[in-house]
Amino acid sequence: MSQQGYVATPPYSQAQPGMGGYPAGFGSSPAQPLYGHYGGQPQSFPAPPTGLMKPVSSPSGMPPPEVSSQYGSNIQQNGAHPQRYPAPPAAAAASPYGQPPNSPYHTIAPQAPAQQLTNQMGSMNLGYGPGPMQNPQASPTSPPAQQPFQTAPPPTMGQTTLGPPPTGPHSPQMAPPQSPLAGPSMGGHPSMGGHPSMGGHPSMGGHPSMGGHPPMGGMGRPVPGPPPPGSGGFQQPGPGAAGQPGYPQQPQGQFGGQMAGPGMAGPGMAGPFQGGAAHMSGPPQKKLDPDSIPSTTQVTEDDQAKRGGQVYTTNLRGQVPPLVTTDFTVQDQGNASPRFMRCTTYSFPCTADLAKQCQVPLGAIIKPFATVPKNETPLYFVNHGETGPIRCNRCKAYMCPYMQFIDGGRRYQCGFCNCVNEVPAFYFQHLDHMGRRVDLYERPELSLGSYEFEATLDYCKNNKPASPPAYIFMIDVSYANIKSGLVRLICEELKTLLDNLPREDGAESSTVKVGFVTYNKILHFYNVKSALAQPQMMVVSDTAEMFVPLLDGFLVNFQESRAVINNLLDQIPDMFADTNESETVFAPVIQAGVEALKTAECSGKLFIFHSSIPTAEAPGKLKNRDDKKLINTEKEKTLFQPQKGVYEQLSKDCVSQGCSVDLFLFPSQYVDLATMGDVPTHTGGSIFKYSNFQVEMDGEHFLSDLRKDVEKAIGFDAIMRVRTSTGFRATNFFGAIHMNNTTDVEMAAVDCDKAVTVEFKHDDKLSEETGALMQCALLYTTVNGQRRLRIHNLSLNCSAQLSELYKSCETDALINFFAKSAYRAMLNQPLKTVREILVNQTAHMLACYRKNCSSPSAASQLILPDAMKVFPVYLNSLMKTGPLVGSADLSTDDRAHQRLIATAMGVEDTQLLLYPRLIPLHNMDVASDVVPAPVRCSEERLTDAGMFLLENGRSLFLWLGQACPPELVQRVFNVPSFAHLPADLSSLPVLDNPQSKKLRSIIDSLLDQRPSAMKLLIVKQKDRSEMLFRQHLVEDKGPYGGASYMDFLCYVHCEIRQVLT
Ligand SMILES: [Zn+2]
Repeated sequence: MSQQGYVATPPYSQAQPGMGGYPAGFGSSPAQPLYGHYGGQPQSFPAPPTGLMKPVSSPSGMPPPEVSSQYGSNIQQNGAHPQRYPAPPAAAAASPYGQPPNSPYHTIAPQAPAQQLTNQMGSMNLGYGPGPMQNPQASPTSPPAQQPFQTAPPPTMGQTTLGPPPTGPHSPQMAPPQSPLAGPSMGGHPSMGGHPSMGGHPSMGGHPSMGGHPPMGGMGRPVPGPPPPGSGGFQQPGPGAAGQPGYPQQPQGQFGGQMAGPGMAGPGMAGPFQGGAAHMSGPPQKKLDPDSIPSTTQVTEDDQAKRGGQVYTTNLRGQVPPLVTTDFTVQDQGNASPRFMRCTTYSFPCTADLAKQCQVPLGAIIKPFATVPKNETPLYFVNHGETGPIRCNRCKAYMCPYMQFIDGGRRYQCGFCNCVNEVPAFYFQHLDHMGRRVDLYERPELSLGSYEFEATLDYCKNNKPASPPAYIFMIDVSYANIKSGLVRLICEELKTLLDNLPREDGAESSTVKVGFVTYNKILHFYNVKSALAQPQMMVVSDTAEMFVPLLDGFLVNFQESRAVINNLLDQIPDMFADTNESETVFAPVIQAGVEALKTAECSGKLFIFHSSIPTAEAPGKLKNRDDKKLINTEKEKTLFQPQKGVYEQLSKDCVSQGCSVDLFLFPSQYVDLATMGDVPTHTGGSIFKYSNFQVEMDGEHFLSDLRKDVEKAIGFDAIMRVRTSTGFRATNFFGAIHMNNTTDVEMAAVDCDKAVTVEFKHDDKLSEETGALMQCALLYTTVNGQRRLRIHNLSLNCSAQLSELYKSCETDALINFFAKSAYRAMLNQPLKTVREILVNQTAHMLACYRKNCSSPSAASQLILPDAMKVFPVYLNSLMKTGPLVGSADLSTDDRAHQRLIATAMGVEDTQLLLYPRLIPLHNMDVASDVVPAPVRCSEERLTDAGMFLLENGRSLFLWLGQACPPELVQRVFNVPSFAHLPADLSSLPVLDNPQSKKLRSIIDSLLDQRPSAMKLLIVKQKDRSEMLFRQHLVEDKGPYGGASYMDFLCYVHCEIRQVLT
């Protein structure tokens, strides 16, 4: 059993630079050089070009417009930025950003835990209720929170008991047979299991067993009483029955053979199923009702019903936010919105021992640029002028709501390191009778969880103001891309797309500069200076030492150079129309982009449109190393390890220049994506892949991705630091990031969809009173070229009771953490080991809950914490994803691609990826705007007469049953019946009827919400293409290996029992 998880980095107890006195990097005082890599000498311009220089032939020259500066007029000076934060009002009551004056989070915080957790419990445990009631000593009146942790079994607060299949009328959900809230008489009620309105149901409080309870005790207190008939967990064969003792029997075929499939094979996995063969030959056993195991769709629906449409105020420490799938509005009152930061649990254990005991990872998923919906307040901007932001002298934390003002307001104590600091004279303010500054609500940095600071020159590279970033479009013009029509498609699109480059709110046009390169074995740079009559091409054929052959005119303002650029974009497809060149280079292309940005002294992004594995003689040349024979061997990991050397160095160069790389791949065969994707995934970039690209079939998909990618909100040349209060710290980081030391997270760029997952470890005891505070500070350059600091603060609770941790868990955040750590671990360990660790850790987490937080009950019962009850379905789905499943039927590049893109995903994205939405459409109400409620991702939910939409944020399917009503087929596809549907249909006709309109509007709204575009695949039941669809039915046995949800749950149950014995 692994105690260490996957962490491949050195244990955090090792001495780390930056911890003692925070000597280096981001944390240093502004007077010192801020970045190691910034301190170096500016790179001198390389030797004169050795390439040719020739004008691009142009049929019609244009008169040169007046020469104008490319930069000057568009640089917005820092001071000129309009301050969004309104002038301080006279009274706090008139708080400009809607802050209720009487809800200071910090006065609530100290007593918050009990109250808010009561609230949490109230909202969390009613669905499934307490566990079994077999603790005779449990007194209904003693508040459980006061019970010592291990001396008496604490009550089961908000836990899920997996009982036997209901014997009465079938509940659509798991029936909690032993719950006082849903005992036998209630268990049969079809909606009791998770009915959203139960939380406030008046009859709940009046339940005989509940009367007179304190809220804490009442909620979770098991009521003594006989277990209902049929208790005993999954159908448990008695001793001597067929199968292993204690192993729940399943219908024939559900065990054994399936579990030992390629996805699950391995000592740890196969062990408990060794008797499978015996099962296989036996008679079918009673089948466990699939409705009785915890349902993600139900959990999602319940949370939406309970918390959807509400305002979530962030004034309480340790408050668990609504699920990512729930539609809610955030009001920042002192903690960062969950859109920016989500945690695996909102109550950290007080000691490292407890953390180790429960094995629940302590993590935060930080999406610093998350999109803020229009109905929420955008981040306020704070400018402290020349002095810059106020920071703690010792730990360098930024001024925030966790600073405690003392001494009449003359000093403040840092909430992170406890250092007492002087308040600068200009910042002095009196305190009120509560000890709060009277200007509390006039200053975002004192009252909000998230805000931005103006960064002074001290925070700029070489102490020089930053420049607006540049976007360089680099188009592979080799034979494949010309022939497919891709080059023409890109060039046409850019003519209009460049009008939509990101710009500062309210700015008339973008200050982002643009540049163009085409390449195959050699590179062509273009001078598109507005003064030119026509663009000029400069060729660099020596790719070994890449340089940019022109200083002026390569990076230009699109508005100013529009005519020349459009001229160029018109010519490019024709210039290479007759090319025979099929070989390409790749690393020199990136190198050229970095050099161009260096020369221009700016950050930026490269958009590379590439078709094939770079085999031309040049640095970074790759060869085909795909080998399916390695699958399920010790060496499988090598398929995912990038080729080092050139690409590693390139990543470093890119990051130090603030050069992000987005890669659009159009391969027709293996391209070694693991290596080609290495630079993008270390520079905050994205990788898009369109295999066997055809303009007609895939053009729109690609263009939608490109548009989203070019237009999205983004920051450049970013460096992030996560500070914590004493007793714990950030030790491990996952994301499209680069790290030169153990604390500074460097991102050449970070956009609105990129998240960094952070793991925390204890280095001392945490105090229940002060909680666990974290501050994420991101220094970056805006699309306008301004240097800014974006601060996100979050406060969590700490508890010596593990039950608090389990109650405050967030399954969606947990699975994000597990996915990223497993995908990293597979670079160093065999997949089998990684999968074993995943299962072991899951079993440990759940066993620890069982042992320490739930009432004693029959070992045959699977008891899950309420907040984690659907964790197993996500984990099982994770193990069936392409990267982890180990199947020779999947392309190595696809697996590498999935692995790399998941690395930077936020919680919303991993949630959807691992539990897709399956939406029934055949019964939709066309008169309503509502999207039909999703159903469980299982074949059992499909109906022959049905039509279903399935999406996971990456793929989008429309599945049609063979018996789909002809009228519906006619209305949606304009063909008379299922049989008339063409096999390769990939889009829906635009028809003027309610069904067609509604379906297309559902699809459009889905596409609109997702970070990347999805190509619609229309799948007919029993067609060959159904396999692609079926791998997303994550509750079923995986077509490439991996267990069904039901089998997996039984297996985990077994593992839990092993841990407990
Ligand atoms: Zn401090």
